[in-house]
Amino acid sequence: MSEMMRGLCLNEDRKLELREFPVPEPKKGYVRVKVERGGICATDIGYWKFGSERLGELPVIIGHEGCGIVDKLGEGVSDVKKGDRVIIMTTYEVCGKCRYCREEATNICINRVGIGSKKNGVFAEYVEIPETSCIKMPDNVSFDEGALVEVLACGVHATREMTTVHMDDVVLVSGPGPIGTLAAMSAKAAGATVILAGLAQDAPRLKIAKEQLGIDYCVDQSKEDLKKLVMDLTDGYGADVCVECAGVYPSFNTCLDLVRKKGTISQMGVFHAPAKELDLYPVLQKEVRIHGSLSQKPTAWHIALDLIAKGKVDVKPLVSDVLKLEDWEEGFEKASNVTGFKVLFAPQDK
Ligand SMILES: [Zn+2]
Ligand SMILES: [Zn+2]
Repeated sequence: MSEMMRGLCLNEDRKLELREFPVPEPKKGYVRVKVERGGICATDIGYWKFGSERLGELPVIIGHEGCGIVDKLGEGVSDVKKGDRVIIMTTYEVCGKCRYCREEATNICINRVGIGSKKNGVFAEYVEIPETSCIKMPDNVSFDEGALVEVLACGVHATREMTTVHMDDVVLVSGPGPIGTLAAMSAKAAGATVILAGLAQDAPRLKIAKEQLGIDYCVDQSKEDLKKLVMDLTDGYGADVCVECAGVYPSFNTCLDLVRKKGTISQMGVFHAPAKELDLYPVLQKEVRIHGSLSQKPTAWHIALDLIAKGKVDVKPLVSDVLKLEDWEEGFEKASNVTGFKVLFAPQDK
């Protein structure tokens, strides 16, 4: 009988459950990674609250933000060795043939299979991934930091690959969750003046962003006049780049209102419902460029890891909790309200 491990899965009833799974055996070109940290993402909170109609075969172990130690090599693996500390990129399989793969936009490969959704993810003691999804971690990067590389990579993809933030830009990020905060830090690392905006409920996160992460302006819109600040900082023109990270239409409208003419809106937030009413007239009137930015691709992962390793982005203050898999309910409670910022699991702890 094969060895067993614990894994937090979305079960056949589309509910989260901690279960026993066989320890995976890496196939040709794949490795087995002993997971040291796995971060809870808004996507995972979505599975917890709503299940998911999009996931096919269940049960599946969730979690896609992780890092660990290479534990076993499949046949033909040559680039990583047993014992390597690695960041786990989220790709289980891409086709390598479609037009998006040909231009290295593997995040939108038409045949992409990701971990933590279609294949077993990192909320488990072990995960099987292709060797091409491993990035070796420099010694000065901790596992806590390693778990946040995915989130920063999303911000890098938005602010550096989908649009290019310049050092004299004023950037407005709307929505101070982990994604928005790291998008703000990515824009800050590019030299921009950055405003991170949220609502009254976001006050604890805005405080950390201001005091520990060094974001230039952290605005609680229930108390402060965001529009006045943006206009004051830009001679009345508006923000060069707005990054929407809340996934709600009032936030999108704020971006549309405060972006300058010929400015850019980068859409990172995930909308969970269609808009009832949306006035897109300013898109035309201001010649606004709007683009989506979906997750990340390998180029962004490498830049994100480098920013952390070189001390240009400090992600440590975002880690609010490190929990055992057994305490998953507490973790999801904390991650879904502002008592936790970024909640990580340490799957080896019992
Ligand atoms: Zn995520
Ligand atoms: Zn492809």
